Amino acid sequence: MGDNKIWLSTPHMGGNEQKYIQEAFDCNWIAPMGPNLTIFEQNLENYLGSGHVAVLNSGTAAIHLGLILLGVKSGDEVLCQSMTFSASANPILYLGATPVFIDSEPETWNLCPVALETAIIDRIAKGKKPKAIIAVDLYGTPYKIEEIRLISDQYSIPILEDSAEALGSCYKGQKCGTFGDVSVLSFNGSKVITTSGGGAIVTNSAALKERAIFLATQAREDAPHYQHSEVGYNYRMSNVCAAIGRGQMEVLDEHILLRRKMHEFYLDVFKDIEGVTVFTVANENSFSNYWLSTVLLDPIKTFGITRENLRLVLAGANIESRPLWKPMHLQPIFSDYPYYGHAIAETLFTNGLCLPSSSNLTEADRSRIKTVILNLFSKKD
Ligand SMILES: *Cc1c(COP(=O)(O)O)cnc(C)c1O
Repeated sequence: MGDNKIWLSTPHMGGNEQKYIQEAFDCNWIAPMGPNLTIFEQNLENYLGSGHVAVLNSGTAAIHLGLILLGVKSGDEVLCQSMTFSASANPILYLGATPVFIDSEPETWNLCPVALETAIIDRIAKGKKPKAIIAVDLYGTPYKIEEIRLISDQYSIPILEDSAEALGSCYKGQKCGTFGDVSVLSFNGSKVITTSGGGAIVTNSAALKERAIFLATQAREDAPHYQHSEVGYNYRMSNVCAAIGRGQMEVLDEHILLRRKMHEFYLDVFKDIEGVTVFTVANENSFSNYWLSTVLLDPIKTFGITRENLRLVLAGANIESRPLWKPMHLQPIFSDYPYYGHAIAETLFTNGLCLPSSSNLTEADRSRIKTVILNLFSKKD
């Protein structure tokens, strides 16, 4: 077919990004410092409503520094949601710590509180209390915020909230990215807004923010020469990338509206198709940015049509879709680490598919997607 490719999730510029980049060039702030960093950070702090934001060159860097801020060291154990992108878990290994993976629960697809507590009790019984909990707001869905916080408080284990996919999502009116003891955002090319590549760490104190910036800029101390007493990193965001971020903040709410419209579009497409459920948050306490719209197939009710059948017919029409994140405990690199739970994450991976969700898809794109789906399930438009 000669049709353009429809991607899962693409960058979507608002219009003012290039103006702010030009400003950066005009004053020669082509460096990982400059006025756009401060402005982008202030914009994010205003948007989140609470917390102190330091912008970095990736979400992965933010998770790495976040674990350091929470005191994770070599030999420690870190509890981590298994169903996620590998960037949630890789920084545990950077630190020489051990990941302990936890299953999801079916309502949010995020950390299962029961499996989490079972893991904590068992790890303590085996002689080591875990140092941190990595909880993810997968596909924009807030995790079980209150249940996980209760467990965190009961055992005094801090939460690192991975909100890489959830900028703009809320729980009871409070923004995701403000629920962790440390939280993390990502501005990679596929996310709700992008700086081409970038991330942020959100902390609950100005002092922790300063500490994050200190570590992200080579841990250089206040002296006329270069003075270092700690290991540092080169993780600060570029002023040019922050210019893109400034422009993107102006269209963030509009882009979330458009992502949510894609979710409504899929609810409509699948409304008469037996055995396919469009993932939707459970109640009005949770508000999702619906970064990606996702569906679960029940091959018994679809008369044998699997998520792989759906993926392949879409691919045949030049439309990208992707299975849900493959759980970390099933990945070769992580298969030797402990896992607590059952097969919720595994079953989601087997039957789930992410569908094109960009904020810049057109009516014609939606119509193409709808036709392919209805054809597969033999439904008339
Ligand atoms: C994108 C993503 C990250 C990593 O962010 P980068 O900016 O790409 O480094 C971390 N966790 C999750 C769940 C993500 O989706």
